[in-house]
Amino acid sequence: MPASGMEIEGRKALVLGAGKSGVASAAFLALRGAVVALHDKKPLAEWSEEARSLKTTHNVGLIDGNIPSWLLDQIDLVIISPGVPKSVVPARYVDRKDGEVIGEVELAYRFLKGRLVGITGSNGKTTTTSLVGAILKNAGIETQVGGNIGVPLLSLAESSTDDCWTVAELSSFQLETIVDLRPNVGICLNVTPNHMDRYDLFTDYAAAKHRLFENQTPEDVAILNADDEVTASWAKGLKAHTVFFSTSGELDEGLFLRGDELVSRSGNSEKVLGLRSGMKLRGIHNVQNVLAAMAAGLACGADPESMREAVNGFNAVEHRLEFVAAIGGIDFYNDSKATSVDATLKALEAIAGESKGQIVLILGGLGKNAPYAPLADLVASRVRTLVLIGEDAANIDEQLGGLTETVRADSMADAVRVSFEAAREGDTVLLAPACASFDMYKGFEERGDDFKNEVARLGVSLAEGSAG
Ligand code: ADP
Repeated sequence: MPASGMEIEGRKALVLGAGKSGVASAAFLALRGAVVALHDKKPLAEWSEEARSLKTTHNVGLIDGNIPSWLLDQIDLVIISPGVPKSVVPARYVDRKDGEVIGEVELAYRFLKGRLVGITGSNGKTTTTSLVGAILKNAGIETQVGGNIGVPLLSLAESSTDDCWTVAELSSFQLETIVDLRPNVGICLNVTPNHMDRYDLFTDYAAAKHRLFENQTPEDVAILNADDEVTASWAKGLKAHTVFFSTSGELDEGLFLRGDELVSRSGNSEKVLGLRSGMKLRGIHNVQNVLAAMAAGLACGADPESMREAVNGFNAVEHRLEFVAAIGGIDFYNDSKATSVDATLKALEAIAGESKGQIVLILGGLGKNAPYAPLADLVASRVRTLVLIGEDAANIDEQLGGLTETVRADSMADAVRVSFEAAREGDTVLLAPACASFDMYKGFEERGDDFKNEVARLGVSLAEGSAG
């Protein structure tokens, strides 16, 4: 698919959001002859060095605070960064005939060579995007991975070739501002209430995700979750060839889990693509991600044998139910990304469903005012000890403390030590805090790193102890 491009030279462009993708967009447009202003509501002093230096390196105007209306009057192209809601541009400018308001991913798409896999959903995007990347690479297909996962799509547009596949994670925010973007293969994993702080209605949120498929043609493939009420209802209206996946039952057509087997069925033919027990990823939600990724792999021409190898060799993305170590017969898992009760429940179900031992669960951090009650049944039946950390520890203790042995820890080092002491051989120590991390850390990544470092230190000190 040749990139359609667009006229940039001489245009007056405003880029909203001075993060990674805003910086990439501003530089991209300036290098192609546009007059560019970069805006962020944060004060200039808090912008990254890279963003601020665009003034001297690319002659980009830098604007903080509110966007002045005189500026919007002069602009004929607005590029919106993924984190910025479309609503910051007043509707009268969005609808103006001589102006264009698009997202960074749409800009990227117009310059992207080769073919595109687009992945969206409420949960599992990063894991599935990484899985599709691993599957295509292992099949010897020229592949690049980016979008919402750290590498702006625009920088991938610049490195793309006519033969490559670009695998892009696309959030609903990014999909709100597409125009022509058309993935050759599109995946929507699920649509559950999420980010409802930014959408008035669930239907608006679902509609944003649905846009992934709106420019597709019958040559394209749409991969949908048959077990998800919302995505299951979409198939009839799509122009693309639809492929369903399911972990809850057999399908006449599509990919599904049957016992331990990952099966692909088309017409009268059926193929076992792999085994659940061969995967390193834990939990039924990850089987869904794998089935969706394998459906994409098949659509891109990956051979089943190399797909199986890629899936079996795939380790969880960092901080997402990531296996850390086994020490003295006790497994340690890091799910620092579980910042909500719902995510913690998924992690608990995954471990409880797949291991025979009990669980030592590290919970706590900055609470989100959501009840912990959904965890109660599993805490009572499968959690040997609750280890509570952070600001919300007392609150969690009040809600769950009576159900099993409960202890407090005042640092991650303490939590890891106490957990190890409480666990018995065959048990799992799971960090899945159900809380944000900001009371103790800069983010969930730092929290997960701290946990992993402390587990590594525990391993070393035990080895030294037994050697000495
Ligand atoms: P996203 O990029 O959409 O936030 P991730 O791959 O980073 O998704 O996974 C984040 C968390 O979401 C995981 O730790 C897990 O708890 C949960 N999760 C992952 N995949 C799924 C899925 N298919 N369905 C439901 N929950 C999932």
